[in-house]
Amino acid sequence: MYFFVSLVPLLFFSYTTSDTLKQYFKETNEKDLLNRANKIAGSIQKDNYLTDEIKMAMFDNELAEKSVENSARIIILDNKGVVVKDSSKMEEGKIYAMPEVISALNGLDIANLKEEDEAIYATAYIEDENSNKIGVVLLISSFENVNNLLNDINSKWIVVTIGICIIVACIVFFTTQVFIGPLKNILKVIQKITDGQLHQRITIESHDEYAQLGEAFNNMTEQLESIEISRQEFVSNVSHELKTPLSSIKVLSESILLQEEMPTEMYREFLQDINSEVDRMANIINDLLELVKLDHKEAGLNIKETDINKMIEDILKRLYPLAEKKDIELLYESNKNMIIEGDDVKLTLALSNLIENGIKYTPDGGSVKVVIDGDHQNCFISVQDTGIGISEEEQGKVFKRFYRVDKTRDRETGGTGLGLAITHSSIMLHNGSIKINSKENEGATFIVRLPIKYNEC
Ligand code: ADP
Repeated sequence: MYFFVSLVPLLFFSYTTSDTLKQYFKETNEKDLLNRANKIAGSIQKDNYLTDEIKMAMFDNELAEKSVENSARIIILDNKGVVVKDSSKMEEGKIYAMPEVISALNGLDIANLKEEDEAIYATAYIEDENSNKIGVVLLISSFENVNNLLNDINSKWIVVTIGICIIVACIVFFTTQVFIGPLKNILKVIQKITDGQLHQRITIESHDEYAQLGEAFNNMTEQLESIEISRQEFVSNVSHELKTPLSSIKVLSESILLQEEMPTEMYREFLQDINSEVDRMANIINDLLELVKLDHKEAGLNIKETDINKMIEDILKRLYPLAEKKDIELLYESNKNMIIEGDDVKLTLALSNLIENGIKYTPDGGSVKVVIDGDHQNCFISVQDTGIGISEEEQGKVFKRFYRVDKTRDRETGGTGLGLAITHSSIMLHNGSIKINSKENEGATFIVRLPIKYNEC
């Protein structure tokens, strides 16, 4: 394409230059020849060569000289178009009825290029003293030299055009290689990734825009890979979590089936165990469904004005019996009345999980305290307990799905390992944040920040 884009203007340029040059030479030569014809006609008229036969006979030499001087063949015709004198002596006595001669006899001197003869014809009339047209001077000058010159220029120009086009084609070919080469590499890697090879990366060798593109692409692929890894982890976690209660149910039901004449009490005990395993599975599935809902942002939050103080009070009211069972004191401190824009169902779920965890992971006789505070932009809710605490190392992991610090103890507490993941997703959906202040065995404090206006983060 570049080759043709450069070829077309070059050809156009060569054509127009040669045409303009030809036009220029034609016009100047025609004008010049017409002038000369006029001069000769003037001198013939002045010296009466055409009317005086003796003079005419002596005019031969002068005519030959003039022909050389003007580099043109000179023909003198009478008023009938008969050749009276011809500097080349070839056509004397012949009749010339060409349009140029007729035009001159009619009083209009003209000059024309005749392409077929490669010559310019110029005619000028000769008058007598009474202004009668008594003859015509016809000058014929060759145009072959000019044509040869133009042909020469044209053929040179074609060579130059072809040369330029070849150079342009080479430059275009090499530059496109430079530009397209890295793109081809990127495309190859994209195809491999599409085929499922997520570990593929683009090798970055330069510092230009391609390198930036490659880096951005590699980052994106890394994220994709980590999403894929966590998806696989999640699936295997879910299967594992559901498999444990299922195997318990299987063992328990088999024992019931195999043992004949089992005492009713034992039946009850086994069925209670089966029942609690079913509850556990139901809890896991409910939590998973909750997480899926939170993952689908487009499902949308039901945003409305929410009274945080009232929400906390309701949660605490609901959890008092649980705390009482463990003789845990539930404390509440409200430093400000906070109304925020949020989805109360999802926020209730998030905050309940935190308070419930506080109760769950605090030994009997401890306390859990909820404090509400805020400024003109944010609302802060902290849940402090005097429980087992979370080591700094574990603090970054507890928000992951199915992550539990102590698996055996958590099975006793009935946790699914999804509570904090739900809380985290819900707070993030509200453009808020959550952090932990804790040391092992020194209690834990979860601090939630929620922007008052939903759209402000
Ligand atoms: P679970 O259903 O097991 O409670 P969570 O996601 O709510 O799952 O919590 C994840 C883990 O974080 C818990 O298993 C527990 O080990 C730890 N954890 C959560 N809250 C507290 C807390 N207040 N004190 C100590 N450890 C906690």
